[in-house]
Amino acid sequence: LSGAMTSVTLRVGDLAGEWDRTGLIPLDLLRDLGAEGRLCAEVPEEYGGWGLSSTHSGAYTAHVGGLCSSLRSVMTSQGMAAWTIQRLGTAEQSAAHLPRLTGGGLAAVGFSEPGAGSDLAAMTTTVRRDGDAVVVDGHKKWVTAAHYADLLVVVGRYEDGAVAVVVPADTPGVRIERITDPLGCRAAGHADVHLDGVRLPADSVLGGHGLPTALLVTTALAYGRMSVAWGCVGILRACLAAATAHAAGREQFGRPLAEHQLVAGHIADLYTAEQVATRVCEHAARCWDEGSPDQVVATVLAKHVSATQAARGAATAVQVLASAGSRDGHAVARAYRDAKLMEIIEGSNELCRLMLAEHALSAPG
Ligand code: FAD
Repeated sequence: LSGAMTSVTLRVGDLAGEWDRTGLIPLDLLRDLGAEGRLCAEVPEEYGGWGLSSTHSGAYTAHVGGLCSSLRSVMTSQGMAAWTIQRLGTAEQSAAHLPRLTGGGLAAVGFSEPGAGSDLAAMTTTVRRDGDAVVVDGHKKWVTAAHYADLLVVVGRYEDGAVAVVVPADTPGVRIERITDPLGCRAAGHADVHLDGVRLPADSVLGGHGLPTALLVTTALAYGRMSVAWGCVGILRACLAAATAHAAGREQFGRPLAEHQLVAGHIADLYTAEQVATRVCEHAARCWDEGSPDQVVATVLAKHVSATQAARGAATAVQVLASAGSRDGHAVARAYRDAKLMEIIEGSNELCRLMLAEHALSAPG
């Protein structure tokens, strides 16, 4: 794993700021990383993946998250697509699609719609059978990595429930419209996806049958939540490193910033945030690795704690660097914008709090 981390560090180099400014990661680099299995590291070896445990995958995701949140976001989408195929698909569907995702093909997952953000039960995208085919109609919004994707996993209504379908991005009727001005993770390839009479073989429906919407969505999002949570740990580590280096190196009023107690307090807060986020992610990853019944709630907790700590921690890092961190291209400026979005995606702060409250209220005693 440490070799893989070093290799990604070398590939990203000092380019994350430039990718952020141009809004694009070079497609060749994404394909190369994908072909080495680096974008969905938990896919089992039999499908060309690394078969990493949740704990090891988390450490790797945090590493990438510390380098570039846009690349980590692409990785989250790829991993979530692979996870959804593996969890909801048949063995034949896994065998058909997963080797593409470990072989350089890129994927994205579409749930959100203009009228269905937090409330995914309000989705209007439909998947209907038509002879030996299925036809997909709808509009997905803000799909991370869709601009780069060869393959889309799209969630829609089907009979009495919901299904996830695998849609090759070049299928007639698919139109991908890039979002060119996101607040953060600017090179993550966000796009709106329009699906107009998209005709696919019936075996594009993962598992072949509908599921209750909440069950399907929770299953697919679980991986994304873990990945975002670890990505936020990476953001916090990058912010802590930048803030400590700056506070130790710059002098004001005749001594290093770090010797001014209010600045030292900021450093302590950042260190605390990084430690808290790391521990809560480690706990959730252990739950995944042990198949614990606490996995679902531990995942929501990890995502919520890490995202809120990262948003606050990134703001603290900008405060410590002040003008030195206040321009586009600086790691803490990027972190500030990227981290805010982590409080919105994969279950916003409010939705996480509702889920955690529901858990606490239902817990015995
Ligand atoms: P809304 O649902 O309209 O919510 C607005 C505000 O109201 C939020 O603060 C929300 O928390 C709050 N709110 C809503 N309902 C309640 C409630 N019941 N109680 C309390 N508060 C509530 N979608 C995908 O399908 N795939 C992707 O890959 C993807 N990537 C994304 C990447 C980024 C950077 C962003 C910004 C979004 C992405 N999304 C993606 C969409 C994302 O999932 C939604 O933005 C998110 O679910 C929130 O939906 P919304 O933006 O419509 O906000």
